[in-house]
Amino acid sequence: MKLTPSSVADAQRWTAHNYHPLPVVIASAEGSWVTDVDGKRYLDCLAGYSALNFGHRHPALIAAAHAQLDRLTLTSRAFIHDHFAEFCHRLAELTGQDLVLPMNTGAEAVESAVKVARKWGYQVKGVPAGRARIIVAANNFHGRTTTIVSFSTDSDARDDYGPYTPGFAVVPFGDLDALADAIDEHTVAVLLEPIQGEAGVIVPPDGYLAGVRQLCTANNVLFLADEIQSGLGRTGYTFAVDHDGVQPDMHILGKALGGGIVPVSAVAASRSVLGVLKPGQHGSTFGGNPLACAVAIEVVKLLEKGEYQQRSAELGALMHARLNSLVGQGITAVRGRGLWAGVDIDPSLMTGRQAAEALMAHGVLVKETHGSTLRLAPPLVITEPELDFALDRLETTLHQPSGRS
Ligand SMILES: *Cc1c(COP(=O)(O)O)cnc(C)c1O
Repeated sequence: MKLTPSSVADAQRWTAHNYHPLPVVIASAEGSWVTDVDGKRYLDCLAGYSALNFGHRHPALIAAAHAQLDRLTLTSRAFIHDHFAEFCHRLAELTGQDLVLPMNTGAEAVESAVKVARKWGYQVKGVPAGRARIIVAANNFHGRTTTIVSFSTDSDARDDYGPYTPGFAVVPFGDLDALADAIDEHTVAVLLEPIQGEAGVIVPPDGYLAGVRQLCTANNVLFLADEIQSGLGRTGYTFAVDHDGVQPDMHILGKALGGGIVPVSAVAASRSVLGVLKPGQHGSTFGGNPLACAVAIEVVKLLEKGEYQQRSAELGALMHARLNSLVGQGITAVRGRGLWAGVDIDPSLMTGRQAAEALMAHGVLVKETHGSTLRLAPPLVITEPELDFALDRLETTLHQPSGRS
């Protein structure tokens, strides 16, 4: 067998085509930069869909991982390890919740939230067996499991994966009247991304999240905030809901919680909610493992100081000011908060994919979401000159769409 692991063609030949990656093969990375197999450097303005909020190989996170690899990697939840309590305690404090349920991937955390909300509905709210309803928003993205794609409105994500899990209702995102109408006596939860990432970084109208909180409280319904992409400093706040001063009943976390090193996700909630789980009723072999906890403890510590939230807010303001100045010059609209932007490229100029390829030729990595929208989500460790470099290259791309190389 001849192995040529560095070629784009081989990467396509031996894998399922469930992704359409940019034709770059990355070999190493540090901070905001990655280097490909030919030694060319690119500024990473996707940051692993926000899994790399602290950049590539943040020294504190790498040190924690190394130290843990030399000591203890896995126990399973059959036993307790010496980082477990600290991780759960710190994350509970960061979220302002009582209890933490550690899992691995984002989709598992969302699944866990759905299961806990339903159990809460039957055992605490008193919903008749099998009747629990959860309300979600149109254009949501909560992951890829069969239950989660059952309530997706994206045909690529959903089609031909049925039969679908029942018990979900979809309302337009940002529409409080539609949400109020959809809530009935069997509704146990409203599940939302506070800012919809995959849909193109869609920020809801002012007052929406506070209104959702009020409706949920008034109707004894749980507000489940999927902060997997929006949380952990991305928007200039620890959590996107903090901008609105709203405390959800559940924080659903993932992506950056693993520091770009290991998959770590979690659900954090009050004792009255997560307390419905009893031994044997839910679990995960790898959830809350020692390596995951060692890294995630350092992630929470980085966020406890507020420095990254502040960087995101300040550099995000610069980024949005520059992007907004390009509206009408190749860009039709810009949305977002902090170091997070959905940028609609003028479709008469190029598609999102073409813009991403042109930017790659100019040394900046981003990814399109849908149609002509680019998502900018640089690592929160990015410096102002690096951010300017990325935005300079974006301007060049808009004025010189075909790129140079
Ligand atoms: C990425 C994402 C998920 C799914 O996370 P995975 O780790 O890919 O399973 C869920 N919700 C949101 C908002 C996300 O951005």
